[in-house]
Amino acid sequence: MNADGEPSLLAELTGAAESPGTRINHILVVDDDAPLRRSMPHLLAAPGRRFDLASSLGEAIESLSRQHYDLILLDHRLPDGNGLSLLDWRAENQRDDAVVMLSGEDGIDVAIGALRRGAEDFLRKPYHLAQLQHTVDKALHKTGLERANRRIGLRLKESERLYRYLVESSPDIIFMLDARGRFRYVNPRAESLLGYERRQLLGRAVADIAGEDDRPRLQALFCNPERPTREARSLELKLQRNAGGSGGKSDMLTFSVNTEPVLGRQGACGMRRLIGTYGVARDISDRKRAEDVIVYQAYHDQLTRLPNRLLFHDRLELALAQAQRRGSVLAVLFIDLDRFKLVNDTYGHGDGDHLLRGVASRLRQSLRRGDTLARVGGDEFVALLPDLTSPDDAERIAIKILQTLHEPFQLKHGEFRVTVSVGIALYPKDGEMADLLIQHADIAMYQVKRSGKNGYCFFGPELNANYRQRVSLENDLRQALERDEFELRYQPLVDTARRRVLGAEALLRWRHPDHGLLNPTEFVTVAEEIGLIGGISNWVLDRACAQLARWRRMGHRDIRMSVNLSPRDFEHGDVVGEVSRRLANYRLPAPALMLEITEHLMMQEGHAGAEKIAQLRQLGVGVAIDDFGTGYSALGYLQRFQISSLKIDRCFVSEMKSGGNPIISAIAGIARGFGLGIVAEGVETPEQLDQLSVIGCDAMQGFYFSPPASAEVVEGLFREAPADWFPDQVVQ
Ligand code: C2E
Ligand code: MG
Ligand code: MG
Repeated sequence: MNADGEPSLLAELTGAAESPGTRINHILVVDDDAPLRRSMPHLLAAPGRRFDLASSLGEAIESLSRQHYDLILLDHRLPDGNGLSLLDWRAENQRDDAVVMLSGEDGIDVAIGALRRGAEDFLRKPYHLAQLQHTVDKALHKTGLERANRRIGLRLKESERLYRYLVESSPDIIFMLDARGRFRYVNPRAESLLGYERRQLLGRAVADIAGEDDRPRLQALFCNPERPTREARSLELKLQRNAGGSGGKSDMLTFSVNTEPVLGRQGACGMRRLIGTYGVARDISDRKRAEDVIVYQAYHDQLTRLPNRLLFHDRLELALAQAQRRGSVLAVLFIDLDRFKLVNDTYGHGDGDHLLRGVASRLRQSLRRGDTLARVGGDEFVALLPDLTSPDDAERIAIKILQTLHEPFQLKHGEFRVTVSVGIALYPKDGEMADLLIQHADIAMYQVKRSGKNGYCFFGPELNANYRQRVSLENDLRQALERDEFELRYQPLVDTARRRVLGAEALLRWRHPDHGLLNPTEFVTVAEEIGLIGGISNWVLDRACAQLARWRRMGHRDIRMSVNLSPRDFEHGDVVGEVSRRLANYRLPAPALMLEITEHLMMQEGHAGAEKIAQLRQLGVGVAIDDFGTGYSALGYLQRFQISSLKIDRCFVSEMKSGGNPIISAIAGIARGFGLGIVAEGVETPEQLDQLSVIGCDAMQGFYFSPPASAEVVEGLFREAPADWFPDQVVQ
């Protein structure tokens, strides 16, 4: 039984539904002989049998109108008619209740009449009880079988309808091909999906409507009766929509197809003949499109829609294989934007993104059709130029790239002119592997950066050495702090008018385990570039303050200390917090500390640095502009930032002729005008000292007095400045 209380199809087919005891057999006894009629239920009693009794034709028809009977035991002679008329009634009313006729007539007419009218059996009165019982059992068994048969027939019809329904309303295309791969059957779904009418498909080879790439495969698999496919297959293929079909769209749909061979009877050779192929095709076009999008995203840069590093690598590998076969030359260009960080920091990421998209599009335009341009980092692009006739082609394209960026870009905050540094590596000269070529192009690009940016450079083996040095320097620098390899030197700041030392500038040294003592010019830029400068600055600040506190404890209470900071300290770190914490820790008065910053920092308008400088000044800390005059001095800033003093770069001091240096005079004038202190750096000779004194610049630093030296040496100079520093002939 199934859930609905119906016998299952399987039970019906195996006959289990007809097992005795599960069914009730209704029997109608029609006889006008009352004792005989009443005795029947007793004589024929068996489990599941129910009896109704009728004494006349009228009563019998009444009962029959109410319900069906499995068996009617029908007497022929009845008071209101005969049994044959009941059989006639049964036929007229298309009833199939089984009838066993019981009759005392001698003639055979009644028996023949009854059997012709469809009675199951005829029993002549008087009969033996066993005869009656046997006849009834037999009749009931037969009706039972007939009924089961009818029901099975009905069920089969139903299940055929069910299967037809399933096939015809399937969301997948269900098809059958003949041995030559021609459609023998397609369900209606093929019409709505492929836009063909069914009759257009029937008789047509499946390869005919497949995408071009799939045709040979389909021909080989399904259309060759000589070598038929006998295995089940799963394949993915593209089928062409009928352009004339609904919507007039003529695009390709992707299907996942499963096929099974349909085999016929066994032939003479013992093999079963292949009749055709049965298959189910599921439309996976949407999933495919979604996959395509995911693949696109995995291989492209979201911002510029250019290929990313992965795809570039693939294309480069492919191009290298081709170049190797053809013996041709190819180039990899590494293109890095100069000072892009400035745009992001100054104008924000919106303008930064806009600029990157603009640059990507101009770079693209300066390349040829078969070239690949990819974005491989924030402001880094690489180009692949396959099939060059000579290395000059690569140079020409590099020049074109530099030129195409000449026109400024329009950003929200105004115009911006971009320059790039381009490194070029050639196959096979500079490497035969993809990674190596990219790395060599990168090294060549780095060389352009070192020599002033905005240009191009071909890779050469000599660059490799520079690069390796730089990489190992970076690695060593990362460990220098924890290995305690940094030291400080101090250079005295001298007040020539009062003939005494005012203070000292802390200058950083790195005692490198292999290269000895290194000056900051050899490593500070690298530390800035790889983000280590913050930690180093804090270390310098701490040591310098500790030293100042020590000197003050030794009685040098009016000595001041200058510390150099990097512009990066103002971009990222909490420089104000770091400084004020140290002043508190070492109990130093703020004016005893002077921070030296470069002019460059002042140039970045809207920069958070401005705010931090103002806060430091509020603390009372001095702020000096180091190497003043070498940058782009915009004097308005001096006042805006409340700078306390200027340090004249030593190149102006060394250029001083006998009549002084007009630039120094101008700077001294400016300083006076803005109420700023002024210090001359790099004083090496007594003449320079003289001339600076004439201009009125009395604070000086330089080898003439002392090179940067240890704290002990400088402390000695605090006690007493050597008399020979100040020759008597100096004009005050
Ligand atoms: P600076 O701040 O302008 O320091 C003066 C530089 O000139 C020092 O070089 C000093 O040794 C050198 N010098 C001093 N007097 C003379 C002279 O009479 N003639 C010549 N030719 N040179 C003289 P140093 O120590 O190699 O420092 C170079 C630069 O490195 C410094 O220039 C400063 O910008 C930077 N620097 C030094 N220490 C630090 C530091 O702790 N942090 C940061 N961020 N930068 C530092
Ligand atoms: Mg300095
Ligand atoms: Mg300087």
